Amino acid sequence: MSHHKCFYCEQSTKQTQREVDHYIDVAEDPTRAFSWENLYLSCWECNHQKQPHRAISATCCVDPCAPDAQPSAHLMFEKELIRAREGSAQGLATIKKYKLDRKDLDHKRLKQLQLFNEALVRIKDAQIADGRKDMNENEKAVLRGFCQPDFPFSLMFKVHLEQHRL
Ligand SMILES: [Zn+2]
Repeated sequence: MSHHKCFYCEQSTKQTQREVDHYIDVAEDPTRAFSWENLYLSCWECNHQKQPHRAISATCCVDPCAPDAQPSAHLMFEKELIRAREGSAQGLATIKKYKLDRKDLDHKRLKQLQLFNEALVRIKDAQIADGRKDMNENEKAVLRGFCQPDFPFSLMFKVHLEQHRL
């Protein structure tokens, strides 16, 4: 479902320690301890550093698996830094509960953003060389590739592409 990415922070779990997180804590609802719908793939950091239910309830956060979840309605990015969109309480709770503003994530998001910016510079250079103002379909596809579900931090790129009107 998550394309080997942590459900919460969207980093790839291929090279990190992956765990199974109980979305609703077992202490909160033991009947859901073995419920498939309550088991989310998580990186070690999100699973072990998250705030317990008594501090911030998961029900106050963006549920990445809810069929009607719209994370980009609650979360946005200023470059690599995650923010709650327009002060969304759900966005703020999500960032705080899973510590999505931690330094290691900022660093990993920045590295992916640099790849995106390098691709953008190559496209701009080609446009100048060809005397074009608009991107061609291949160039748009390259940038849209960053927000495909299997790409790390695809939500951040979805938000950035919306800013570039792509
Ligand atoms: Zn994570």
